Amino acid sequence: MLKPEEREKLKQIIQLQIEEAEKEIEELKEFVKPVSLDASIGRISRMDAINNKSINEDALMKTKKRLQKLENVQGIADSKGFGICIKCGEPIPFGRLEFMPEARTCVKCAPRR
Ligand SMILES: [Zn+2]
Repeated sequence: MLKPEEREKLKQIIQLQIEEAEKEIEELKEFVKPVSLDASIGRISRMDAINNKSINEDALMKTKKRLQKLENVQGIADSKGFGICIKCGEPIPFGRLEFMPEARTCVKCAPRR
């Protein structure tokens, strides 16, 4: 079980990471605006712009997913189940939660990436 002060610390981390993710999403949104077809930028740089756009779209999608997970976990941060692996029911080590507060499983049960 998490100690009360550990839970408080994690809640702060979650809040901070949510704010960071929101900021990142705002920034990425600027980069995924439609690429201008203005001939003056030239064919190569337009291709660059399109490439960058898809990289940024990918990053935007990932950040949005992460934000959702963080918000979900924020919603349960005061419940008993927070910090408990949803697969095996063992406590998730504090160090793992500190590093990845949105984690809902212990290292053993984590899906391989
Ligand atoms: Zn587990």
